[in-house]
This record gives sequence, C-alpha cells and structure tokens, in this order.
Amino acid sequence: MIENDNVVTRPTWIEIDLKAIQYNARLIMKHADATRMIAVVKADAYGHGAVAVTKALYDIGIRDFAVATISEALILRQEVDHDDFNILLLGVQDVSQVKLMVENRLMPAVGTLEWLYQAVSFLTDSQILDVHLAVDTGMGRMGANSQADVTELYHFIQKSSQLRLNGVFTHFATADDDNEAYYKQQVTKLYQWVNGAGIPKKYWHLANSGSALWHHNEIDTDTIRVGSVLYGFNPGSPALDMSIKLKNVLSLKSRMGAVHQLQAGESVSYGATYTAEHAQWVATLPIGYADGYLRRMGGMKVLVSGEEAQVVGRITMDQIVIALDKQYPVGTEVTLIGRDGDEKITIEDFATYAGTIPHEILTSFGVRLPRIYH
Ligand SMILES: *Cc1c(COP(=O)(O)O)cnc(C)c1O
Repeated sequence: MIENDNVVTRPTWIEIDLKAIQYNARLIMKHADATRMIAVVKADAYGHGAVAVTKALYDIGIRDFAVATISEALILRQEVDHDDFNILLLGVQDVSQVKLMVENRLMPAVGTLEWLYQAVSFLTDSQILDVHLAVDTGMGRMGANSQADVTELYHFIQKSSQLRLNGVFTHFATADDDNEAYYKQQVTKLYQWVNGAGIPKKYWHLANSGSALWHHNEIDTDTIRVGSVLYGFNPGSPALDMSIKLKNVLSLKSRMGAVHQLQAGESVSYGATYTAEHAQWVATLPIGYADGYLRRMGGMKVLVSGEEAQVVGRITMDQIVIALDKQYPVGTEVTLIGRDGDEKITIEDFATYAGTIPHEILTSFGVRLPRIYH
C-alpha cells in the first residue's frame, strides 16, 4: 500500500511494518498485565501514519485511541471505516469546539471547572460530552492538582446530565528515566487524590510507555496509555535496559541517483567542507533536511550492501552525498535507518547522533517521504 506516488518519481521512502506494531502492542499489554490499551496515535502516529496504524490496531481488538488535536481526531473518524472506537483528545482544547467534539464523539481531557461550565453552555440539553478528568501530579501541563479540585470536578461531572466521565488519568514526567523518587511521588498523589474523590479504578489510566515498561508493578490499573513502545523504540535514555524485546517498525531508504568519482582535491556540497584525499567514489541520494534528514546528520553512517558508508559534506535541502568503497550502479538501494544484512541503524542510533530523542526525529519526517506499509 503506497500513500502517495512520490516513491515512483523520487526513490526515497519510509517502510512501516504494521505487523510489528501489532506485535509490540500485544507484547506490552502482556508485559504490563493490562487488559485494555489506549493507543496514542498523535502527531500522525509519531510519523508512522495515524490512519494505517489505527486500522492495524483496530484489527487486533484495540478500541481506544488518543490524539492531541481535534483535526487529528477528525481524520480518524473520516478515514477509518469502523466507528466503534473511542478517541481521547490529550491536549488542552478550545472549549468553543465542544459541539464538534460531541458530534464526532471525541472525548476531551479536562482539568478545570471553568472549562466544564463553558462546555455545558455550548451544548443543547440532549447532548452529552464524554470527558477524561486530567490530574496534574507533577507534569505541570494541565489538570486538577489537589484532592479538593479532583473531587470538585468529579462531582460536577456526576451531577451534570450533559457530562459523562469516561476516564481519569495523570501523565508521568520521569517514568522513562532514573528519577524514581519523582515517579513514586506522582503515583502517591494520584492514588490519594483519586481514591479520595471516590473515582472507581475502572476509569483510571496512568501508564505511558516508560511506566508500562519499567514500573507496571507499582500501579494496579488495567488500562495502559502508550505510544512509543508501539513504534518499537526505547522511550527513555538508551542507558535504560529494555525489559522486553520490541520489534523494529520503521526503515528509511533511498536509491543512489548519481554515482561518480571525485579526484583528489575535489570537494562536495556547500562550504566545500569535505575534500577527497584520493580518487573517491561517491553517490548522491535524493533526501535532505526538508525530509527530516537533519542538517546536523553530516558524517552519519548509512548501509550499502550490508556495509557501512558515510555521509560526507553538508546535508542540503533535498540531497546528500555518501562516500563509497567502489563504484555502484545508479539505483542501488541505501538504508538510512533499518537493517541491511547483519548491520542495522536504529532510530535510537539516529536520534543519539542528532542529539535528540526518537520522538522528535520520527515526527520530523516530512510529507515528501511516502510511507509504504507491509
Ligand atoms: C504522548 C502521551 C502519551 C504517550 O507517551 P509515550 O511515552 O510515547 O508512551 C501518553 N499520555 C499522554 C498524556 C501523552 O501526551
């Protein structure tokens, strides 16, 4: 399945293994003893294509999805054939959009009484808005942040005929690093406040990927709310050992456009920062920083015929140049992320080289890169 035909006219593409996503979803649920998953498919499923990922997860029985924005949610409502699945909106939403939310059965995360007051005023008497109560135990982005506030919000929702509670959640700031004390403090607050307010356990969803991987024994909830692990990468510091073996999901590939030989003293790309010391075969690949192959990736390795080769000279907007040990035919496949023979370049390797995290790399891959699913 090809999302657009760029790949025919410019041979650079992303390959996505949907079976690996399904495998990872099942594995993390088993690992965390979860019976239900809210699959986080915001930011176009971390760059993997939210529609394809949602369909693949729907096919293995997942019925709860989370996105950040209303427009992300509307795409799922329009493009996914089934309509018996829930969509949670994680971010702060513009309350004037509640009609759109009700009409499309989108469930906003809510954290203040003012928001709920206003929401109710936008609804007709017969409309019911499902909401998830956000509890801020230490993330500092949104949510009720005391037992009194949680209780007040819960009671308000219970009393209103236009509001219905569908979930209550918090988000952990340090589940994927070694600051366990902070994590434990968040868990303690959540249990105190939410138990104190009397909200039944069946509504709770707390665990993000880091929590599901490394801390599932410290919380006793049935539902996990995860993104990163579905896409097969370590959400935390590479130093933290993965407790389970996730499957790789994404590969980034291209084909050699031009192949030519530089003579000693000849240079490559803007700034002429790379100069051949002796006769040197190089190939030009049709990918650049406009696609998300960041400018700072100069010097990164790629894989050609199962061997490492190096990006030389500056990354340009649409093209990069790699050094070769010999001449290769135009059209030879090059792996920029993924496996080739015994060698592999993981998304974690790529992100570490770029000085960032996999999430940022994945969500920066542009629309110019077709996603091919298998
Ligand atoms: C993005 C997000 C998640 C998913 O986090 P991962 O670490 O990728 O599992 C879960 N909950 C909220 C509120 C989020 O914003």
